[in-house]
Amino acid sequence: MKLRIGHLYPDLLNLYGDRGNIQCMKKRCEWRGISAEIQEYRLGDRIDFENLDIVLLGGGSDREQRIVCEKLKKIKSDFKEYVEDSGSVIAICGGYQLLGHYYDTSEGRMEGLSLVDLYTEQGNPRLISNIVIQNDHFSMPVVGFENHGGRTYIGENQPFGRVVFGHGNNDDGKTEGVIYKNVIGTYLHGPLLPKNPEVCDYLLKNALERRYGNGELMPLDDKEEIEANTYIAKRFPG
Ligand code: GLN
Repeated sequence: MKLRIGHLYPDLLNLYGDRGNIQCMKKRCEWRGISAEIQEYRLGDRIDFENLDIVLLGGGSDREQRIVCEKLKKIKSDFKEYVEDSGSVIAICGGYQLLGHYYDTSEGRMEGLSLVDLYTEQGNPRLISNIVIQNDHFSMPVVGFENHGGRTYIGENQPFGRVVFGHGNNDDGKTEGVIYKNVIGTYLHGPLLPKNPEVCDYLLKNALERRYGNGELMPLDDKEEIEANTYIAKRFPG
């Protein structure tokens, strides 16, 4: 079995080690005898969504986000088709904001991909914190680090988690991120997946299920990952 992971614009959207998420997915596949092929895309490259199983969009500064969003119109309809066909996506911070309709900043509006019904508005101050959230789908809390000026409004969509410690989507202290079909959007940098192996496996499972009709994953020894997660969760208990 093989999964193809597409990393969109790693030269621009690459804050705080988002690339580590790619390494994590690759390793957790390989440890189970599943091969993982990583394909990086630069601005202007044609993206063959039909061959992809997981797409990662990382975080970026407002300046870099603006460069990316200029080009998004070209991939919008193919990306939409992929998402509606249950393609897996993990989008972090700036990448998460780009999933929505727009991101309004003092420098003007950045049009998003409109893949998920949400929008973002810049606010003050920046929301910078360690963050712990709870999603009842996972046995462990999900931990990370957030640093964003944007406040994201997800409407009736399902959040990625409930905020235990930190700011989350818009500092209302309630929701963090979004889940829509097999898309996760989140403000959690960190990198996210190495410290939250259940989230990584959730993405792999969904992708395998879609491609091969069987998302069963062999359990791994996650002692170190669990220790890293527990350390943060205990330090910031809410
Ligand atoms: N530029 C966006 C913001 O400040 C996202 C930042 C990020 O990806 N860390 O809200």
